[in-house]
Amino acid sequence: MPVSPPAIGRVSLVGAGPGDPDLLTRRAVTRLRAADLVLYDALVDERVLTLARRAQRFYVGKRAGRHALTQQEIHVVMIRAARRGRRVVRLKGGDPFVFGRGGEEAQALQAAGIPYDVVPGVSSVLAGPALAGIPVTHRGLAASLLVTTGHDGEAFAAQIGSLPSTGLTLVVAMGYERRTAIAATLIAAGWDAETPAAVVAGASWPEQQVWRGSVAQLAAGAGARDDGQPALLVFGQVAALDLQPPAMAVAVTADPEQEPVAAAADGEVLAVRRSER
Ligand code: SAH
Repeated sequence: MPVSPPAIGRVSLVGAGPGDPDLLTRRAVTRLRAADLVLYDALVDERVLTLARRAQRFYVGKRAGRHALTQQEIHVVMIRAARRGRRVVRLKGGDPFVFGRGGEEAQALQAAGIPYDVVPGVSSVLAGPALAGIPVTHRGLAASLLVTTGHDGEAFAAQIGSLPSTGLTLVVAMGYERRTAIAATLIAAGWDAETPAAVVAGASWPEQQVWRGSVAQLAAGAGARDDGQPALLVFGQVAALDLQPPAMAVAVTADPEQEPVAAAADGEVLAVRRSER
């Protein structure tokens, strides 16, 4: 009997969004459902992982500062699994090509001749400010946006050294731990110390937290949030905006004749029953 060559698998580099499964793309859901193997990072929500019901799931991210697998080892595991015919999902928080080393993985797959695709995700660098009520561009306040990383102080200072300090929104990922030094660097680079600043932690998570203040306050040590949540720093005039609806408490009535009453947290009724309109 002729032996057919083993089917080659494929790898999908999938963005998981900022956390809430509602912010997954439909394509991400399709890839997860079809996966045999999922290699995931820190910050990926358990509810997202459970969509990959048929798959073996392996954590390959950083834990307590140590990598479970090196970047090179991740490449080897993906390539080997695909050569064995498996459908691999490499799942990353946010977008795979925004500070996720997804580009290096794509290069490794390309070099190895493995079929792969990239499934963009909702990046926290955009979704975080949005969920905190901060538009990253806003007519009259900010016409440009710079997204950078704060984990290396020298690289950060070099990045912002030549930037205009007005008309710009600066979003810093991986900078929360160094927020005090980052704010001081901005002031040293000529930014007005009163420039609005925000810390957006755990965006889209149930325990999302937002701090608002100024660069000076951040430089003085303000802006601490609960530990364990990923956080972004946002600098610029837009950081003072708070474009959020009031917290909604929706009371669902048992009576099908009645429409639910939606009330703001302070008790103000926003929508009334039909009979009362
Ligand atoms: N690829 C990811 C970013 C990975 S770098 C993306 O596109 O979102 C990790 C950094 O992203 C964290 O240090 C933090 O600054 C930010 N981050 C990720 N998820 C976040 C969230 N839910 N809320 C706030 N910041 C988040």
